[in-house]
Amino acid sequence: MRGLYITDSYLKRFEATAKEVKDDRFVVLDQTAFYPNSGGQPHDLGVLIREGEEFPVVYAGLFGGQISHELGRVGLVSGDRVEGSIDWDRRHLFMRSHTACHLLSAVIFRETGAMITGNQIGEKRSRVDFSLDEFDRSMLAESVEKVNRIINEDRDVKTAVISREEALEIPDLVRLEKDVPEREEIRTVEVEGIDLQACGGTHVRSTKEIGRVKMLKAENKGKSNRRVYFEVSEGD
Ligand SMILES: [Zn+2]
Repeated sequence: MRGLYITDSYLKRFEATAKEVKDDRFVVLDQTAFYPNSGGQPHDLGVLIREGEEFPVVYAGLFGGQISHELGRVGLVSGDRVEGSIDWDRRHLFMRSHTACHLLSAVIFRETGAMITGNQIGEKRSRVDFSLDEFDRSMLAESVEKVNRIINEDRDVKTAVISREEALEIPDLVRLEKDVPEREEIRTVEVEGIDLQACGGTHVRSTKEIGRVKMLKAENKGKSNRRVYFEVSEGD
């Protein structure tokens, strides 16, 4: 089952049925908009509501290909109809930060050819790691300013779900065939004219929604590993 956020990242409320409840608090639904902790993007928080009774969702994770919701209290049983509601302020911040990660990765790759080795989005700050021999702080600061210029151009961000065969034909979508996930469908995210990547996370619809990206810190993390910390704030 793929999450409802794959086709609609802006879905905040949805209806579902509890398919499976383990240990009284781990719930798999027949469908969900809750994003599970994965790909450097933290899980959503929120509530499941059964006839007015609220069950807080304190964690969501991927287990055996299914999205499991950990509840903060017991009582939900298999077959219950619920309404799910995600904490939108938290999710929207992650969508903005996640889209900013794409822009920063694209700009740094274009400037230096550096491959991105990791990223972690957070509530206070986010980071992108990449492999680069030289550590040039002013280049990184300039890259962040380029990201802000792209944000102000208000470019569209589009997602699509395509077959694995189609994905393999797109140059640079993923740079090595072995990195194309072994699934039948691949989710792509395109920032118009800037970047096209395979990604299963949640993103904003257009770059202006990100606001403004501020570099907090650039770090040397070993021989050729560099790390940039940034935060997003409301734009001007
Ligand atoms: Zn993404």
